[in-house]
Amino acid sequence: MAGSGARPVQIELDRARELRIRWEDGEVSVYPLSLLRRGCPCAACRAEREATTGTRLPTVPPPEVQRKMSVAEGVELVGHYALRITWQDGHAAGIYDYAFLRSLPGGDQSPTCPSCRGPGERRAGPKRTEQ
Ligand SMILES: [Zn+2]
Repeated sequence: MAGSGARPVQIELDRARELRIRWEDGEVSVYPLSLLRRGCPCAACRAEREATTGTRLPTVPPPEVQRKMSVAEGVELVGHYALRITWQDGHAAGIYDYAFLRSLPGGDQSPTCPSCRGPGERRAGPKRTEQ
């Protein structure tokens, strides 16, 4: 199991916006919460995403639901390999393992309604600076 990836040394949750992780190898990743929620790895969310794969217009919940869906109540460590995020709408089934987090691309992988992005959104994603 050696070398299977870095672990976080610092986790900062900005409940309404983003999750910042500083990894033990010095990299810092910033994940918009909306990205993490859309990428929720739990079985229910995966099934839902697969059901909409191939459609150009995924079902979009009402704005107030979306707001709760991408606001986090908290984040906790799961064993030595993952994080669990508890969302404001009560969803907490997703286990985000570190390898998954490290593999996430930037914050613009899914089609998103521009009006849902909120003002002043910047492109933020895992930053990889290897020298
Ligand atoms: Zn889920």
